[in-house]
Amino acid sequence: MKIGTPKEIFDGESRVAMTPDSARQLQKLGYECAIEAGAGAAAGFSDDMYTDAGVEVIKTPAALWKASDIIAKVRQPSETELKRLSKDKTLISFFNPAGNEEGMELAKSKGGNVIAMEMVPRISRAQKMDALSSMANIAGYRAVIEAGNNFGRFFTGQITAAGKVPPAKVLVVGAGVAGLAAIGTSTSLGAITYAFDVRPEVAEQVESMGAEFVYLDFEEEQQDGAATGGYASVSSPEFREAQLAKFRELAPEVDIVITTALIPNRPAPKLWLEDMIASMKPGSVIVDLAAERGGNAEGTVADEKIVTENGVTIIGYTDFPSRMASQSSSLYATNIRHMMADLTPEKDGQVNHDMEDDVIRGATVAYQGEITFPPPPPKVQ
Ligand code: NAD
Repeated sequence: MKIGTPKEIFDGESRVAMTPDSARQLQKLGYECAIEAGAGAAAGFSDDMYTDAGVEVIKTPAALWKASDIIAKVRQPSETELKRLSKDKTLISFFNPAGNEEGMELAKSKGGNVIAMEMVPRISRAQKMDALSSMANIAGYRAVIEAGNNFGRFFTGQITAAGKVPPAKVLVVGAGVAGLAAIGTSTSLGAITYAFDVRPEVAEQVESMGAEFVYLDFEEEQQDGAATGGYASVSSPEFREAQLAKFRELAPEVDIVITTALIPNRPAPKLWLEDMIASMKPGSVIVDLAAERGGNAEGTVADEKIVTENGVTIIGYTDFPSRMASQSSSLYATNIRHMMADLTPEKDGQVNHDMEDDVIRGATVAYQGEITFPPPPPKVQ
């Protein structure tokens, strides 16, 4: 069978779902590989690099889709792209099944199979295919780099002949995948780093990375996310007030705030409010990774950088992984390659779409003309 990757058509998207390295690995699973001409260029992979890796370069997207049994891409497909799906083809891509009713119906009517990368269950066995985590890791790193780029001072403290420079103070709100990556980047650059999460079980991890976990003056225990499978649930009003009070105290102190707080399937909780922004020092920077879901900070504008009246920069870019296209393409293509390995147990270049397998079942949102989303809960945790 042939795996093909088209050029991404979403405006500004620079990633690509197959790299020359991943193509070499896919060929070891028995597949032929194809790529649309120029698909890897924005991520630093030329057509010649693909040809050298044994990949066929196909000129047009229509011809690429036609020639391929499996289509691997990054972004949720457009209507034009999805119309190219047919019952003998499998699409592997981000798909946004919960918010993409038209796409789901179209996939159903086309009879093709769709594996949605955001639906890979967050269980240990599936970590190697967990593209949301790969991308969140990059976003967390890049958020700190972006903050540094917009902050007019050093991260680390220095004593120089020209004077003493205090270290920057960074607060990371939400210590999930993106938050932990941001914390690691911030401490490695030498900033004094604080982190807060509603899940107290992450405190140890935060502290082991050299950051300080922010505890609340709150009588009840901080929320226990374990009951919701490691994810946070909505905070009680009292807890929220205690959290906001602590943030109010920290706002005039910190130079950089990276917000990553997320509750699955809900709009982003508003945690960094206007009065906190107003009390920050001029030159401070907020990077709001939750911008796509409405933002954790008041005043965030998705995909924009704004500067408030008191000189605070608020960055709401939603495309951090695409801004590091070479790295994110490598990791995403590796996630896809691992998915293909699970789909090809015999390494014979043939897909065995095993709907009894928790991971494959969990990620499959359309199968043989049926919508198979949402999936049943995984059997193995
Ligand atoms: P995650 O689920 O791993 O982490 C989210 C964390 O937020 C969890 O640890 C949760 O406990 C915490 N949280 C929830 N409510 C909170 C609250 N009230 N206060 C403090 N913490 C709270 O998610 P992730 O994969 O790390 O993604 C984080 C965010 O980054 C998401 O919004 C995601 O969409 C976004 N993201 C943005 C980009 C971009 O380019 N801007 C790229 C990738 C991911």
